[in-house]
Amino acid sequence: MDKLWGQAREELQKIIGADSFATWIEPLRLTGVDDGTATIASPTRFLSDWVSRHYSDDIVKVLGRVGSPVHRVTFETRAQTARQAAAPARRAPAPRPAAGEELTAPLDQRFTFDNFVVGKPNELAHAAALRVAAGGPVTFNPLFLYGGVGLGKTHLMHAIAREIRANQPEARVLYLSAEQFMYRFVQALRERTVMDFKELFRTVSVLMVDDLQFIGGKDSTQEEFFHTFNTLVDQGKQIVISADRAPGEIKDMEERIKSRLQCGLIVDLHPTDYELRLGILQSKTDAFRTQYPGLQMAPGVLEFLAHRITSNVRVLEGALQRLFAFASLMGREITLDMTQECLADILRANDRKVSIEEIQRKVAEHYNIRLADMIGPKRVRTVARPRQIAMYLAKQMTSRSLPEIGRRFGGRDHTTIMHGVRKIEELRGADSGLAEDIDLLRRLLEA
Ligand code: ADP
Ligand code: MG
Repeated sequence: MDKLWGQAREELQKIIGADSFATWIEPLRLTGVDDGTATIASPTRFLSDWVSRHYSDDIVKVLGRVGSPVHRVTFETRAQTARQAAAPARRAPAPRPAAGEELTAPLDQRFTFDNFVVGKPNELAHAAALRVAAGGPVTFNPLFLYGGVGLGKTHLMHAIAREIRANQPEARVLYLSAEQFMYRFVQALRERTVMDFKELFRTVSVLMVDDLQFIGGKDSTQEEFFHTFNTLVDQGKQIVISADRAPGEIKDMEERIKSRLQCGLIVDLHPTDYELRLGILQSKTDAFRTQYPGLQMAPGVLEFLAHRITSNVRVLEGALQRLFAFASLMGREITLDMTQECLADILRANDRKVSIEEIQRKVAEHYNIRLADMIGPKRVRTVARPRQIAMYLAKQMTSRSLPEIGRRFGGRDHTTIMHGVRKIEELRGADSGLAEDIDLLRRLLEA
């Protein structure tokens, strides 16, 4: 077993790099391979959680490579006798559902309303999710949640599903991703069980489809989804959908589906702000503290992280997890220095500053004007307005001064830039279409 693990470790190190290897894999031991399942001993629950979520696939892969094919990994924590099963490797074949069996995807235990931190950027989405979860008469159908990656869509979906199941045990809540919907539909086509498929989907009480954007362009799947959707809506069954963009923006989605999706309540999760990030960090830190009693953290660390990691909640969470694991393996207090050292790669990635040129290009693309007009003299509204939006974003998203921005807009005076920025600030408050455009552009630029 030790020899096998030795070889697997060498392969793993090549795949994930020396640093991650030292932090995550080094402390683990392979204790058994049985019936396609590898068992790995880990010193802490936290370490096995992390490895299970991030490296299960890799472990399965390398064990196969070194001559011991397995399809899943289980962890045993030395401190605890309880065994937890790791998520099965992503590429393992999905178990075939028997006829009549629930097709629902598993829910993440941690994605509850209790664990969801509410702030300005997500309060509407949260309120709508709570309303749907409370059951009662269906007032908006579908509930359509959208927003960038890692902002809590899946978290809210799972929380809704869990809550409904707890309050109405007889309700059949079907939660799955659009990809799983497609996969099952294609499978039903192949196996000529489409009638069963339809029957199964059309007899649920609540249908929840995550990441709907993935069925854009998949024509027969879209068609089937459309019929399922209509049947359920006609029966007054609640539907909850999530996507990474608004219904109208989903690529290669049939118009009639877009317009059906727009009949319900559409709410977006905005990019996080500093307060929300800090709140989330505080709440996750509290959870970690019970896992790592005695681990100290210097003041200012959370504030530093909330300032510096702005991409999304998933990254924020990952950073904190790594930090705690690192500190506990080292047996040291979490300080600012340690944070900077341990999270250097994440901090660097979040440092990526948007350039004024990128802003000009994106805005020009969005409004379908020529890039040259961003710097040129044209004063017609169709060109001047997008130019002002680009000025506004340049002021907001870069650290350039007004004169510097002016130079990059064809040598305009700093007062012209200031005027443009003020104009957009003013319009933004009055024109929700414009406000949405700006949010979208900002999100595209931050991605
Ligand atoms: P999405 O589906 O929008 O890409 P997820 O729901 O998977 O994002 O969220 C990514 C991670 O961030 C999850 O671990 C989730 O629990 C966490 N998360 C996101 N928003 C919040 C929040 N407001 N409070 C607590 N955790 C959050
Ligand atoms: Mg998701």
